[in-house]
Amino acid sequence: MITDYPICGNGHGKFGFTVLGSGSQGNATVIHSPDGMLLLDAGFSARELERRMALRRIDPHGIRAMLLTHAHSDHICGCRVFADRYEIETYMTGHVCTALDKARPKHVTVIEPGREFELCGVLIESFFVPHDVEAVAYTFHCGGHRIGYATDLGSVTMQVIARLHGCDALVLESNYDTRTLVASHRPERVKRRILSRQGHLSNDSALEALEQILTPSTKQVVFAHLSRECNDSDMVAEGLRSTLERMSRTDVFCEVARQETPLETLWVGRE
Ligand SMILES: [Zn+2]
Ligand SMILES: [Zn+2]
Repeated sequence: MITDYPICGNGHGKFGFTVLGSGSQGNATVIHSPDGMLLLDAGFSARELERRMALRRIDPHGIRAMLLTHAHSDHICGCRVFADRYEIETYMTGHVCTALDKARPKHVTVIEPGREFELCGVLIESFFVPHDVEAVAYTFHCGGHRIGYATDLGSVTMQVIARLHGCDALVLESNYDTRTLVASHRPERVKRRILSRQGHLSNDSALEALEQILTPSTKQVVFAHLSRECNDSDMVAEGLRSTLERMSRTDVFCEVARQETPLETLWVGRE
């Protein structure tokens, strides 16, 4: 049992996020606010979530609520056990609530995309993204700063651009390298699904979107949900770096989320 949580105890007065892991094998991110923490997606077992939190000295008892993006297993597989273990409320759309069925946690609040709500002093907004099941992305506003989080989207709509535009920190999907995916041995129907406008976002599309989303207030960019077979994190990092360089935005901190290990916590709005 870990009792010392020097970074992420309540009342540290900071707003930030920790990507616990991201990719097709599991996704989860902790949002930190001065009043507590939120868990965004629970795509690992409860035990694995706790293990990853411990690695970043995050006390799972400090998680005040959970939010889900959609009902694919790489986003929900630990949600019932974790939410019930810590007796927290889980926020999700009606579609996700129905889809979870027996995997539904005890305490559920159904959210309406486009309608803001507040948790732990954080104003939260969800909005639909095009995916092969109903899915939402989120923005989190706190203390004049904003974190945007969008994975599992086949295309970047005007709405996605508008919602993410000017976020201080951005987590965006960069799922696959198109050439690698097309040349892969995956079944044709799987390729078609991933490549479609309801599938996942390619590296090129993510970089294109970034150019439209980035404003001078954007200081941190994390590319996430990389495909294990059809992507390469060094290639994604290089694409990200060279795009930011071309935009004369070398001041932006950029990073690629990993499947196996959590990233360091990024604090938003710090000088
Ligand atoms: Zn996913
Ligand atoms: Zn998905």
